[in-house]
Amino acid sequence: MEENIQEILLTEEQIQSRIRELGRILTEEYAGKDPVIIGVLKGVVIFYADMIRQIKVPCQMDFMWISSYEGTDSTGSMVVRRDVTADIRGRHVLILEDIFDTGNSLNFVRSHLLSKKPASLKICTLLDKPSRRSPGVTLQADYVGFTVPNAFVVGYGLDYKEHYRNLPYVGILKPEVYEH
Ligand code: 5GP
Ligand code: MG
Repeated sequence: MEENIQEILLTEEQIQSRIRELGRILTEEYAGKDPVIIGVLKGVVIFYADMIRQIKVPCQMDFMWISSYEGTDSTGSMVVRRDVTADIRGRHVLILEDIFDTGNSLNFVRSHLLSKKPASLKICTLLDKPSRRSPGVTLQADYVGFTVPNAFVVGYGLDYKEHYRNLPYVGILKPEVYEH
């Protein structure tokens, strides 16, 4: 285990097994629909690569990159840094996200994509932290990998100051790591 990790919340095996389960559900859901599967960068890349290989239907890959004016906090107003390139009008769209926390990012991404008039729009998030939701956010994820407690997690794509994304598991950092 990486030295700065205090506790492993989800092992590589737990994550992969859940992704196979979700894959079976999504394969049924999207059969014959040729969906556009949109990842929200950068945290989603590891989940995206594993998840899309378990959705065994013809589909198209695309990515969006958003950021908030305030920097690291997601509470500020958001901006599209890189939009999708596919024309999603009339298409079935599935958003993949790493973590659904306050919900501000997903709310923004969802309205942005809905303005392009897709035939359907669903959300699949690897992690859900319902205890952190912003009061104004009512949207729900259609598919959730795991519900996690209110702790800052890293690994499997999730970062702290751009590090730890390459850990194969999801864990909690030691408190002293945050102090500098
Ligand atoms: P939201 O807009 O739902 O608050 O947050 C979404 C984004 O905040 C995620 O895509 C992620 O980049 C970041 N985030 C929220 N919670 C965590 C966490 O526990 N760990 C990490 N590494 N990032 C988080
Ligand atoms: Mg992030």
